[in-house]
This record gives sequence, C-alpha cells and structure tokens, in this order.
Amino acid sequence: MDYIELAKCYDHLEKTAKRLEKTETISDLIKKTPKESLKQVMYLLNGSVFPVYDERKIGVSSKIAIKALAQTTGTSMEKIDSLMRKKGDLGLVAEELIQTNKQKTLFSKKLTVNKVFENISKLSEMQGAGTVNRKVQLISELYSNSSPLEARYITRTLLEVLRVGVAEGTLRDSLLWAFFPKKVSYDKEKQEIILNCSREEYNEIMNKIQHAYNLSNDFSEVALALKDNKLDSLKKIQINLAKPINPMLAIKVESVSEAYEALGKKILWEYKLDGFRGQIHKLGKNKYEIYTRRLEKVTNQFKELIPILEKNVKGDSYILDTELMGYDPKTKRPRPFQYVSQRIKRKYDIEKMAKDFPVEINVFDVLYLNGKNLMNLGQLERRKILERMVKEEKLKIILTKSLLTENPKEVEKFYKESLKAGNEGLMGKQIEKDYNPGRHVNGWIKLKPVKEPLDLIITGAQWGEGKRTSAFSSFTLSCISGEKFLDIGKVGTGIKEKDSELTFESLTKLLKPLILKQKAQVVEIKPKLVVEVNYEEIQRSPTYNSGYALRFPRVIRIRYDKSEKNANTLEDVKRIYTKQNKSLI
Ligand code: AMP
Repeated sequence: MDYIELAKCYDHLEKTAKRLEKTETISDLIKKTPKESLKQVMYLLNGSVFPVYDERKIGVSSKIAIKALAQTTGTSMEKIDSLMRKKGDLGLVAEELIQTNKQKTLFSKKLTVNKVFENISKLSEMQGAGTVNRKVQLISELYSNSSPLEARYITRTLLEVLRVGVAEGTLRDSLLWAFFPKKVSYDKEKQEIILNCSREEYNEIMNKIQHAYNLSNDFSEVALALKDNKLDSLKKIQINLAKPINPMLAIKVESVSEAYEALGKKILWEYKLDGFRGQIHKLGKNKYEIYTRRLEKVTNQFKELIPILEKNVKGDSYILDTELMGYDPKTKRPRPFQYVSQRIKRKYDIEKMAKDFPVEINVFDVLYLNGKNLMNLGQLERRKILERMVKEEKLKIILTKSLLTENPKEVEKFYKESLKAGNEGLMGKQIEKDYNPGRHVNGWIKLKPVKEPLDLIITGAQWGEGKRTSAFSSFTLSCISGEKFLDIGKVGTGIKEKDSELTFESLTKLLKPLILKQKAQVVEIKPKLVVEVNYEEIQRSPTYNSGYALRFPRVIRIRYDKSEKNANTLEDVKRIYTKQNKSLI
C-alpha cells in the first residue's frame, strides 16, 4: 500500500477533533489495507514501529533529521534550523522544503508503507561507528521519494511526535467498524453512528476486541487476527510470558456502603499500598521480567528481587500482580511512592539504589501458573492459589494483607488500621470476579479518604507545542503566604480541548492580558485568576518554592467568585499535609 494513503489519513485526523470522524477515517484506511501491510499500518498509526510495551526507540534526533533534510533538498542546516524555530515543528519545515524541491526534480519512486516501516525499523537497530551517516542515508532515501505531505509525517514519526491524537479507544473502535461493516456505519451529515445490530451485540464485540488488546497490548496482533477470521481468531490471542498485560484497575468509591452498591457484599478486602505496580513474569529458572503499570520493563532496575522470587515462590513459570513497596532501610517503615519512583528510570548505580531504596514485594494476584491462564478463575480462588505459592519473608516478599468479611464494621476497622499503617486505604475485590485486564474494570474498587480541594492562583503558564502553539498547555499553581505567591505545582489535567467552559483556549484568553514576562515557551502571569484544584495527595517537594507539590492535580473549575487574596494559603496546605500524614505517624 502507498504511504500517501496513511499520510492523508494522518492529515485528516489532525484536522478533526471529533472522535467519531477519527474512527471513520481510520476504519476506512484499515478496510483498504492489505494483510501484508496491516501490522505496519497499525504500528504507524500509533506513531511507532513497535508495540506500546516495547522499550525500543526509533532513535533519531532532530539533528539527524535536519541533516538528512539538508542533504536531500540542498538546503543549509542553518536555514533549516531557523525555519524550525519559526514554525516550531520540523514536520512542517520538511513539508515546505520538499514542496520547493519537488518543483526542481521530477523523478521519484512512490513510497510504500512497508518501505517507510522498513527504513524506520532499521534506524532503531543501528549502533556503533558511522551510525549517523547511515541513518542520514536511510532517512534521505525516504525524503527523496516523498511528497510534501508524506515528508511531514515521516519527520514526525522519526522524532516520535506524531501529534494526530489517536487514543487507544479510537483504534479499537476503528477495528470494529472496519471488520464489522454490516453492524455499524457512520452518518457523516448527522455525525451519528448507525447501528445495524443491538447495542448489546455491538458492546460485546467491542469488549472482545478490547480484551484481546488488553492481553496483547498490540493492535497489530488484534487487527491481523480479525482479518484472518473475525472474532474466532481473537481467541488465539492469549497470555504470553514476557509480554505485559494491561493491569486491572479499580473504580473509586468514597465509603464502604458505596463499595457494597458497586460490588455487593462478597468482597475480599485488601490494604491499598502506596508503592508501584510490578507485574512479575517468571519465564523459567532465574529468568524473570518485571513491568510497571505503564508496561515499562524494569527488570534490570529491580534485579535484586530475582533471588527472592526464586527462593520464596513456587512455580516453573508464572505471572504475579504485585505492589513493590518502598521502605526506609534504617527504620524499616514504609516509604511513600515518590522515593522508589526514582528507581524506575534509573540506568546506573543500580546496586546502590537497591540498597538506599529497598522494596518489599507485596503480592496480591496470580494470573498465570505453569502454562495455565488463571485469569478466568474467581478472585478468591486465585488468592488461594497464591497463598500456596508464596512463602512470606518480611521485607522481602509478603502477601498483601487481606480480610474476608461481610460485616461493614469489621471493614471500617480494617480501613482505619490500613491508614494507620501508612497505606492509602483499601482495595475491595468481588470474590467471584475474574481478572479483568485494562481500564474497563468491573470487580475492583478502591477506597481512599477524600481530599479537600484547594483554591489556587495561576501564576505562570507554558505555550503548547505543534498544533497547540496558540494556547497555553500547562499552568503553574500558587498558594499565598503573606504578600507572596508560592508555587505548588503545574497542571494541564481537567482542562478540555473543546466543548466546555474550561478549555485551553478559554483559559488562554483569560490569562493573556495578565502576562507579565515571557521567556521562550514559559510565561509569567499576574496573580489574579483562581482555580479550584483536586489532587491525590500533597507531598514535600524541593521543586516548588512552597516546599510542597500536588500529586496528580486536576482543575475542577474557575473560581470567578474568588480574588487572589481569598485563595488557599501555605498554612492551609501545611494543615492538609499534616492531617493527611497523621496516619503515617
Ligand atoms: P490508583 O493509582 O489510585 O488508581 O490505584 C490503583 C493502584 O493501586 C494499582 O495500580 C496498584 O499499583 C495499587 N495497589 C495498591 N494496593 C493494591 C492492591 N491490594 N490491589 C491492587 N492494586 C493495589
């Protein structure tokens, strides 16, 4: 298939923010795609040549891309640099240069999807002497055969900044629309989806596709299975060792009675720990892989855990769902997530980090054992299997503390006990439910204390990139301390792209007249506008001059009714911080 088909699809996706329209555009492309290009198209739609869990990078810096562009078009690197500064997007620069160049040279071969995919894949494998030149050569070959539009997207793919906004759910729905055209179509004029089957049937197909994706984390694999034999082939997608599964997540509730409403009373309660998710795969003796919740491989960073697993867990091969809990090596008390989080990306001093920031494996689930998928067993059954597998050893590996009761008073007591021990709260798991990977959760709840929202002042902002250069994309939040404004975090979440009162555009409009200073993308804003902000937690932090930072802040609304003088103070922040951490003492 010609690459121009894909480039046109990207262009269309970039021009529309409407999800249904995006879905239709992608499904049209998938319908046209022959089997031998389907894998490539699915990866490229996601802006990569690898599945999401693969840690390999394309490995092209903007400098290399500029060099290739200079070589192909005979433009100087300085000129490209200056164009780049003006446009803020090398993709658009490439498009313009190829456009001018095309007027001079007439001959070029048509680029195919597979050719683009092949060259880009080769780039990621290149190492050693002469790499830069060989990379430039491969890229140049693509540029010299590309149309302006193709050059735009080749460049962005190379730099891993595609910016066409395709969410996972959109890709899933596009597959459904492409492979089940008799069940669903799209009315462009009315901008409506038309179902030619019942909503239940549609949802069932969607869930099957989503499930296959949750197991494989690979839309190429799902697409190829669907192309082969529709839903039947999806069954072939099974758990694979050394391929992370999207972890099961929980719905938030605010009380035990709300938990009962969601799941009924048959609940296995567990401590909700503040560590980080570790999915542990045992492939064979001394052979392990560990993945985070975001499917990053962290085996090397946590290799000290391997002998513990080897010694304390029975099974020739398995997949465990765990929380890796940091603790203070001196006091042995649990430490909040942010201490251990430094280990996730760390590539050097690994042994020292393991000593300074040790973790205890808290196991709470088993998904696979000795060649058998256990995900379809009930929660309690899986827990029983787990109890037989793990030999507990304090500060090395333990089973997450649990309680099986239908008595709300006992649950409340367990909840208090968990908070007192420094945990986040409780997880509640319906005892008969199977393991439901991914976001579409049904079966787990999380119970955490509700945080009081803060009213904070916007004192800074950052201009967006690419398509969003005309609006701010993130905002600095401050509290007050006497006459001063002290920053406590940055936020970009909670603000909508469109169709809301609280959009990036509307906030930019309100803040633009308040700009005090501007340096590159960063803007200082006169403290005036107050916003209400929710968050998961307040942490101590050297990054902000308040000494505190908000974890996962989210804007709820603009407080037009409040002036900057009525915003929350540093004292308020300290009070909430102490209250929140009382349970830790
Ligand atoms: P949240 O990050 O608030 O959405 O909560 C979900 C996270 O809680 C999971 O991804 C796990 O990392 C963590 N967690 C802590 N304790 C447990 C537990 N007992 N069962 C499942 N997840 C847990």
